[in-house]
Amino acid sequence: MSQDILQQIGGTPLVRLRRIGSRLPCEIWVKCEHLNPGGSIKDRIALAIVDDAEARGVLRPGMTLIEGTAGNTGAGLALVAAARGCRLVCVMPEKMSIDKRSTLAALGVEVIITPNAPPSSPDNFRNVAERLSRENGWFLTDQFRNPANVRIHQETTAKEILEQTGGSIGAFVAGAGTGGSSSGVGRRLKAHHKDIRVVLADPVGSALAAWVETGSPGPDGSYAVEGIGAAEPPLNLHRDVIDSVERISDDESFEVTRRLIREEGLLVGGSSGTNVAAAMRVAASGQVSGPIVTVLPDSWDRYRSKAWMQAPWPN
Ligand code: PMP
Repeated sequence: MSQDILQQIGGTPLVRLRRIGSRLPCEIWVKCEHLNPGGSIKDRIALAIVDDAEARGVLRPGMTLIEGTAGNTGAGLALVAAARGCRLVCVMPEKMSIDKRSTLAALGVEVIITPNAPPSSPDNFRNVAERLSRENGWFLTDQFRNPANVRIHQETTAKEILEQTGGSIGAFVAGAGTGGSSSGVGRRLKAHHKDIRVVLADPVGSALAAWVETGSPGPDGSYAVEGIGAAEPPLNLHRDVIDSVERISDDESFEVTRRLIREEGLLVGGSSGTNVAAAMRVAASGQVSGPIVTVLPDSWDRYRSKAWMQAPWPN
């Protein structure tokens, strides 16, 4: 029995890819974060950020929360806000799916849509969230900078992976939106064993891959996968944790997502395809011994309206 739904956040299953990974030199294991109550890995950080702010006395009942989000942090925060009696405003770039907008609307969240503007623009979703927070005295949960984000992945996601694998892991692969999951899980796994390789899965068009490799962000391009990649590195992405990068195109991400759904019965979204495509490349390289672990960040129901999700299955 749970006292409330928030107690069901985390503790997600780790599942082996039986068909997709069958011909690869090492196994791929996926952490099913799409099975969190709010439908994504971001439930973990939503709860952690609110708990931390309440403990520090900066967030009190009745206050309004605001966040710039690709949608999933918004859904996680909505569950927490409901349980804690707070109002929630989410600022979301227009690129994000209609399904995410309607999820947030159903949860009673006030949603503000911004143009797909670069970080230098006042219309950028993060800048709009910061401005509204300043002007109205709303609490900015600030997932891109808040250290509670990285910390909760060290304390829960990574700890669970170590328990579920017995600590025997060749590599950990993840994309970065805020960087919280890749940095937090990566850091804790490396502290467990320095030879565990941490690989960033980055969409072609994101500036992060070049930044990890050279220290300077690459050109800011466009791509359709949601929730990962960025034009500028977020503070919560710790470059020293990442050993290498795999660049994955939209086509490859969506193709692998459809395979995860159809061949493995895993009802997941586009960034899961990016992560697993990158994990398959790392496995195929033959440079890693031991299983490769990655995360399935969110659920397919966030993308029902997208053309790539509706594409007919090949025979
Ligand atoms: N996939 C999706 C669909 C997401 O919404 C996010 C979070 N923006 C991520 C992956 C990446 O997670 P993180 O913020 O921990 O880097």
